[in-house]
Parts: sequence; C-alpha cells; structure tokens
Amino acid sequence: MAPAGYDRNLENTLNKLRSSFREGTTRPLSWRMKQLEALKTFLVERNEELNAALWQDLRKSSHEAAVTEQGLVIAEIDDALEHLAEWMKTEKVAIPLINQPGYCEIRREPFGLTLIIGAWNYPVNLIPAPLVGAIAGGNVAVIKPSEIAAATSSVLARYLPEYLDPNCIAVMEGGVEETQAILAQPFDFIFYTGSSRVGKIVMTKAAVHLTPVFLELGGKSPTIVLDDKELGVTARRITWGKFINAGQTCIAPDYVLALPHLVQPLIAAIKGAIKEFYGEDAEQSPDYCRVVNDKNFERLSRFLGDGKLEIGGKTNPKERYIAPTVLSHVSPESPIMQEEIFGPLLPILPIANVEEAIQFVNLRPKPLALYIFSGDKPAVEKVLAETSSGGVCINDVVMHMPVPELPFGGVGASGMGSYHGRRSFESFTHAKGILIKGRWPDFAIRYPPYVDSQAKLAKIL
Ligand code: NAD
Repeated sequence: MAPAGYDRNLENTLNKLRSSFREGTTRPLSWRMKQLEALKTFLVERNEELNAALWQDLRKSSHEAAVTEQGLVIAEIDDALEHLAEWMKTEKVAIPLINQPGYCEIRREPFGLTLIIGAWNYPVNLIPAPLVGAIAGGNVAVIKPSEIAAATSSVLARYLPEYLDPNCIAVMEGGVEETQAILAQPFDFIFYTGSSRVGKIVMTKAAVHLTPVFLELGGKSPTIVLDDKELGVTARRITWGKFINAGQTCIAPDYVLALPHLVQPLIAAIKGAIKEFYGEDAEQSPDYCRVVNDKNFERLSRFLGDGKLEIGGKTNPKERYIAPTVLSHVSPESPIMQEEIFGPLLPILPIANVEEAIQFVNLRPKPLALYIFSGDKPAVEKVLAETSSGGVCINDVVMHMPVPELPFGGVGASGMGSYHGRRSFESFTHAKGILIKGRWPDFAIRYPPYVDSQAKLAKIL
C-alpha cells in the first residue's frame, strides 16, 4: 500500500497534468523548446547539487558525471533543440492509384499522459534523457526516479519543478509501493528503465489499461575477442567499459569470450590498464565508484568464488568497495554466469572459435549490447549476421550509446523500443496516418453489386 494521502495527491497531480494536455498546453513547438531549454538550464545551474548527490549515491566523480550523466543529456537536448521543428513537420507520403486524386500524410501526435520510471545506476541520465523525448513529443509527464539513488532523486524532486512547467511535468518520489500505486493509474505511455524482473511487473500493470510500454532493460552483454592485434587498446577499452561506475552499467561488457591463447595475454593487459586508470589501489582512487547498496554488495561478493581470481578480489563492506576483479576458469553453469553481473567483476572464458562464440551467445537471452574485437571482416560479419542484440560495437565497447543517430534499446529479454535523438521523439509520439480526398470523382468500381470486370480492374489498380 502506498502511504496515506499519497493516492489522493497522485490523483490530483494526474488530473492537473491531464487537463493541461487536454487544453493543448504542450503541443506548440514554442512550449517544447522552452521546456527543453529549461531542462538544460537545470542541468547547468544545479550541476553542483547533482554532482554532490551522485557522489553520495555512488561515489561518482564529477568528471565521470560530466561525461556519462549531465553531458549526455545536454547533448540529447541540443540535438532536439536543433531538429525538433523538422521532426514535427507533417510527412507527405506517396498515394496509390486507387486513392487518387488525393494525398497522404503522417502526423506525429503526442500520446498524452506519459510515465517515466528510472533506475539508480545513471540517475541523472535515465530520467532526464527520456524526458527529452516526452517533452519533444508534446506530452505531459510524471517522472519517478529510483529510490535507491536517494540523494539524486531528492535533488530532481526539489529543483526540477522550479525549472519545468509544474502543470505539465511532475516528479513523484518513492519506492516499490509508491511505484505500484502510480502504475495502477491509467497512462497513455510508460517508459521504464530497470531490471527485466521489474520490467515484467510494469508490463503486466500496463496491460490492465492497454498502455503501450517502452522497456529499457539489461542483460549479460558479451565481449568476443578474436585476435591480439593492438591487445593493449582492446584491454584499455574493455577495462574502461567494465569498471566505469564500478560495473553498474547496463551495457558494460558482462563477460569476455576469448580464443584460448588470448586469455592470459588479455588478463595481463587488463591488469596494466586497471593500474594505469586507478593506481596500485583502486580504493584510493577518486575515479572509482562504489557498489550502490549492501544488498548488491553481498550479491556481488558471493560471485568472487565462482572462478580463479586473476586480478583484484579485495572488498571493504563498510565502504561497499569491490576492487576491479577479473576471474578465469569460470564455468558457464556457475552463478556469476546466470544473471547480469552489474558490478566490477569480469569473467573471461575461452572459446575455440567464432562459431563457438556465436553458439554461446545464442543459447542465452538476447543481450542489450554485444562487442567484438577483431580485424577479420568475415568473422565480424558472421557474428553480426548470426546473433541478435540491442546494439553492437566493433573494436570498442559502450561508445555506440552516445551516438544520437543510432537507436539505443534492447531486443527480446533486454527490452523493447529504442530511443536517443530523433527516435526519442518518435517513441513518444503516435504516427497518425491520414488520407485526404475530395468528394469527386467517386468511381462506381468499389461499390456493389460486383461484376467480373470490376474485379479485374481492381486487381490492376
Ligand atoms: P531499480 O531497483 O532502481 O528499479 C528501477 C525502477 O523500478 C525504480 O524506479 C524502482 O522504484 C522501480 N521498482 C523496483 N521494484 C519495483 C516493483 N516491484 N514494482 C514497481 N516498481 C518497482 O533498478 P534496477 O532494476 O536494479 O536497475 C538495474 C537494471 O536496470 C539492470 O538490469 C540494468 O541493466 C538495467 N538498466 C538498463 C538501462 C538501459 O538503458 N537499458 C539503463 C540502466 C539500467
């Protein structure tokens, strides 16, 4: 049960947003542009408060936040500000002979009342980035940050209403009970970021009202290493993508599949990269994050025994610190290989060849991202053609995410829908197909009673 009084507040808030939408407040380009500018101003002016909250929640450095949180959202906003007028334009499409004379067009209309539920791992990104799409699409929105990143949630709740139109955008804080109370209400569109487990709950609740859902989920993103060309670069990129945010990144390389003769050289190169990035002792590095809470710390600590410790393994429960860790001799059946790791532990498993890597990936749920390090074009093409994943990087990790022109999202168990750039606008709008005709001519061929010559003509048309 949600706390007493919550339901009434919730209903009042939703009624206020609904009537703003009905009055057409959010439809004009000018309102959308103003709100996007205001969201950007919030991120710039409240940068200090956001950084302090991110430090408190995840011990995230302001440098990392600038790149992966505020910076990414500002780039999304700038892209929308530059292109929104063009995205909103009515699209003319070809008309078949049977409907001529006339013309066809597609208009992008807002859904109406939208709900954005975010996860804790990039809390400044995962609420404002979809909000860019909601605003650009001309919707009203309720945003529900994750209670697990409590400090960031309270900065969003405290300051966003000062910047954004409070009659159209509302922040609602809370945990499971409050989120369930929100989900019991009818929305026109739900955008959810988080685990597959909760994604199923969200989808079930949405089904009651036939509300369309967009699910940004996670999964085990594999990294396949097929050659030792520039192994230092391969190792640096994997190390960066795995240990940024202490491995709590939805598209972090979850595990590595490497040809047997590459396993030990790769481990040695990753060891060098960890030392280069975080020094002799990562616990002392201002650039290395902490695990978000005790529950996840304990879950991750249990994985430490699932293989041979090659690098790291040190923990400090008081600080929820887990050193950047690499494991070898990990069985595919071990617990660490059964769920998304979502922490700074990297298993490296040998695979005999590219075919075996493909089979390994295909025997598991479809991942959010897949990474291939190889200079062998046919091998890369084979992986691309024979596996399915939300996105792919070749000879890199994670870096496909900040490209606005690339759709970002999962497939199968890793989610449904894609966003960023124009796709955010498209995801938050309905493409309405419109046929416009005069009332003359009105050919008799379509009307009964039917004769054979009509059928022939209809076929030709
Ligand atoms: P979380 O625990 O913060 O949950 C996410 C949201 O769901 C929160 O707002 C929370 O309040 C709500 N919630 C939790 N339990 C609920 C319940 N029983 N009923 C209703 N609402 C509930 O975050 P999490 O799930 O631990 O997030 C981590 C997962 O999110 C990982 O799997 C990660 O890969 C994924 N993720 C995906 C993306 C992406 O872009 N695809 C980005 C970040 C994280």
